[in-house]
Amino acid sequence: MTPETAMQFIKDHDIRYLLAQFVDIHGAAKTKSVPASCLMDVVEKGAGFAGFAVCGLGMEPHGPDFMARGDLASLSVVPWQPGYARMACSGYVNDAPHPYDSRVVLLRQIERLKEKGWTLNTGLEPEFSLFKRGTNGELLPVDESDTLAKPCYDYKGLSRSRVFLERLVETLQTVDFDVYQIDHEDANGQFEINYTFSDALTSADRFTFVRMAAGEIANDLGMVCSFMPKPWTNRPGNGMHFHLSIADEAGNNLFGDDSDPQRLGLSKLAYHFLGGLLHHAPALCAFAAPTVNSYKRLVNGGSNSGSTWAPVFIAYGDNNRSAMVRVPGGRLEFRLPDAGCNPYLVHAALIAAGLDGIVRELDPGQAHNINLYALSTEACREKGIGILPQSLNEAIEALSEDTILRESMGPEIVDEFLEIKRQEWDEYSRQVTAWEVRQYAEFF
Ligand code: GLU
Ligand code: MG
Repeated sequence: MTPETAMQFIKDHDIRYLLAQFVDIHGAAKTKSVPASCLMDVVEKGAGFAGFAVCGLGMEPHGPDFMARGDLASLSVVPWQPGYARMACSGYVNDAPHPYDSRVVLLRQIERLKEKGWTLNTGLEPEFSLFKRGTNGELLPVDESDTLAKPCYDYKGLSRSRVFLERLVETLQTVDFDVYQIDHEDANGQFEINYTFSDALTSADRFTFVRMAAGEIANDLGMVCSFMPKPWTNRPGNGMHFHLSIADEAGNNLFGDDSDPQRLGLSKLAYHFLGGLLHHAPALCAFAAPTVNSYKRLVNGGSNSGSTWAPVFIAYGDNNRSAMVRVPGGRLEFRLPDAGCNPYLVHAALIAAGLDGIVRELDPGQAHNINLYALSTEACREKGIGILPQSLNEAIEALSEDTILRESMGPEIVDEFLEIKRQEWDEYSRQVTAWEVRQYAEFF
């Protein structure tokens, strides 16, 4: 969009306000409302924020402002808030891209790909849970009849939440998402929405928009839409798989190769990228599964439906949903991320890891086309398959030891992330949970 077409867009859609929107280090959307007449100010100078008030921007109360500069390409209406448009912004401080801003961090990695003439395309698969609040504020399933042990693809479950789902789909279609599937997932009250892939930056901007839209539409309907990684102990969690491929300037998929001797349809480039993902998996985990709750998802079994579908093992396989990376043919499905991640940082980290794999020609080893959930820890060890971190603490340690990720993503963002996540871990570790009281109060 040019400034002229943007002004026309504002007129055509009766836009009165712009949401100048960026994300904090957790990926949560932050905004200011700006009268539409100030559009070009936001693009050229940025909307000013007191950066110290936002989590993870590495700023002090006595420093300069954090300027959120709008990206015209992301301008869209906000269908649930008539008269508003949203522009995704990148952070600037003292006129320079701010190394603590997640979108800036991703743009740098995209630049590294661009130098090679490459674009990373990603298809994100958000999963989420629908709740309502009980009289004491507790979260209850929105559809009380949605109680099957194996609720995946259930017709009734899908039908009874259709008011929310239709509103979400139509909202996303209004802003040009090509939505092609919506399903009831494997946990009660859990759904997934699929739309066509895009370049990594657009995907991150879009997922942020999905969370904004879903949260507000649910709120309007008296519901809560949660992207929490694992809301229930006994049900699968909310994943957010990333389908990955690299395209050249002509748009050819460089990850596809029909002559692949392993018959996964992958090129050498894809295997090296995959080698990078596997090699850096423990550190990637800190970004892809960034909360203490995330690690309740990354465990073997333990769900009513019999599976979590979330990865435990650092391995890849054919159409293997028990592996960290599934290969649906000519692309990679990175199954580690959960719906609570910061999509900018996950994209940035996986590009850094993948490029390291390409530069060092890392070998991902052989594919594992077996049900990895059925393997014992011993059997995995014998096969040389590593286990993903089983707590946020383990993932943080792995990230702090991964000098390659730190150097390529930038020490500012990685150190800030580590500090915040260490605090989160410490705070969590001090909690006495209901489980502990049940387990120990009268045990001895
Ligand atoms: N909910 C699963 C997860 O947490 C994914 C289910 C699926 O394969 O779609 O990763
Ligand atoms: Mg799913």
